[in-house]
Amino acid sequence: MARLDAEMLDQILTTLREYADKNLPPARLLEIELGHEFPEKVMKDLYDPGQIGLHLLTIPEEFGGLGGGAYDIYRVSEAMASIDLGIATGVLATFLGTDPINVGATPEQKRFWLSELAEKGVFYAYGATEPQAGSDLAALATTAAPVQENGTVVGYRLSGRKQWISNGGVADRYTILANAPGGPSWFLLDKGAEGFTTGKPEDKHGIRASNTAALFLENVYVPADRLIGRVEGRGLVQAQAVFGYTRLMVAAFGLGAGWEAVKRAVRYSQERVQAGGPLSEKQGYTHKLIVPNACRLEAARHYIEWVAERLDGGEEGLATEGAVAKYLATEAGNKAAEDSIQALGGYGYTREYMVEKIKRDVRITTIYEGTSEIMEWTIARDRWQLHLKSRGQYYRDWAARAGSRHAQSPNVGAGHAALALRSLASLLERARLDRLTRNQHVLFRLGELIAFAETAALFAERAASAPAAASGLEPKTLEAMARVHARDAALKVASEGLRWAVGAGQTDPGLKQQLGLDAAVAAQAGLVEDMDKIAADLNRAFPAK
Ligand SMILES: Cc1cc2nc3c(=O)[nH]c(=O)nc-3n(C[C@H](O)[C@H](O)[C@H](O)COP(=O)(O)OP(=O)(O)OC[C@H]3O[C@@H](n4cnc5c(N)ncnc54)[C@H](O)[C@@H]3O)c2cc1C
Repeated sequence: MARLDAEMLDQILTTLREYADKNLPPARLLEIELGHEFPEKVMKDLYDPGQIGLHLLTIPEEFGGLGGGAYDIYRVSEAMASIDLGIATGVLATFLGTDPINVGATPEQKRFWLSELAEKGVFYAYGATEPQAGSDLAALATTAAPVQENGTVVGYRLSGRKQWISNGGVADRYTILANAPGGPSWFLLDKGAEGFTTGKPEDKHGIRASNTAALFLENVYVPADRLIGRVEGRGLVQAQAVFGYTRLMVAAFGLGAGWEAVKRAVRYSQERVQAGGPLSEKQGYTHKLIVPNACRLEAARHYIEWVAERLDGGEEGLATEGAVAKYLATEAGNKAAEDSIQALGGYGYTREYMVEKIKRDVRITTIYEGTSEIMEWTIARDRWQLHLKSRGQYYRDWAARAGSRHAQSPNVGAGHAALALRSLASLLERARLDRLTRNQHVLFRLGELIAFAETAALFAERAASAPAAASGLEPKTLEAMARVHARDAALKVASEGLRWAVGAGQTDPGLKQQLGLDAAVAAQAGLVEDMDKIAADLNRAFPAK
């Protein structure tokens, strides 16, 4: 897939920021969310090519779009989330809604629907989830009954109910997953079709600027050319095919919202004086509430960038890598927002200071597009297969690569990442020998440990070779952050791996040694000094206005 040139991407990001500064100051954002208002005018402005034309980002150039790639989507999603995650979700819904078309439609269907979107900026909604089919989409109950004329299928009648659909009450077009005789399939549906109604907007914990509604389908007729791809039974494969992208998008939401909260806390702490000095100079504050979150968010960013580059390089799938990115970025974003409320004390608990809103908004990112638990499962299942297929070499090989990186660049935490990866390889092998993954909890915990080890290795690698310019942080700061994250990963894999293996009845008396727990503890040397540096660097990078 193509990628926008850097100038064009910068221009979009700058225009977006300028638009938000002018039209969406905090007071307006609070007004929208407290009024539970769908900001139609804002959405229209964002889709207006004369202003920003965000909807053009993912549409190929041949259909009148900009032909952006995964990297562009990540940067724009991060920027949107730093402004308002509810509004960002409205935009995401159109990207999501058109994804089945992007991956599965016939060339004629693509030309028709994507050109229409480019030209008219219509709103889309993506209808997969149902009351009984959330994480388990295979439990889908909506049906698509063929309508035949003279032995030819001329259309389908859709019946069923969709739940929690973003843009559900405001979209012009809907992509709907339904069971046809040949299996789950995507259909394209118009607003106002006979028999098609939508529920009232859900009253939500956060992202209140986003419209979420149920969809009701009672014998709704769609012509046969509205079956995406014109072949039944490809729906789940098509849904799976877009996960690499869509999970990356939500990962970028966690990143953008989380960093916005951290920056607010950093700035606040420079001006808030308690016990004779600014909070920004107090280790008990920065090293608990700010630095760990900043490090984890940056680890997630580097992994997101790695996945985006691979997708833009033409690799397909990457659903597991998308899951790692989503899992780490959204959990980190959620924690960062929670800690930022604490960092602002009583002010953080009020609406005016915005971190309370960010916290409520970012909470959704660990739920939609696959919950964190489903991400843990996806990651563990996939990497477990790689462990088995490679006879235990998968993470040993990766550890060797991290070891080589450490030999070339000893300051990026690659040695600690190698410890984490070696420990992981031993843990997976012990899990195989003692059949520990019969316990679902152990399998899911492995998913978490894998996410930490992989992001540690990637962060170290990229801090040495391709530090992310998007972070706005100095390379030396990123190196220190990579060291902190890699230490965290090494200790986490060894200690929590040991905990759950012992807890599930593992049989090797030497497991503690094999997991390298002592080495992971020894690797913590220098941790506090690195955190001191990062705290000071963050204060310089994000000065109070
Ligand atoms: C605001 C909002 C917007 C949304 N937008 C859309 C949209 O535009 N389009 C769309 O199609 N959907 C949308 N969704 C739906 C969303 O993707 C689902 O809510 C999500 O996938 C989880 O499904 P569920 O709510 O049914 O929870 P469940 O699947 O019932 O999960 C409940 C809990 O059980 C856990 N769990 C589930 N299965 C297992 C298992 N096998 N083992 C262990 N634990 C498990 C989950 O992790 C979770 O903690 C949206 C949801 C919300 C809240």
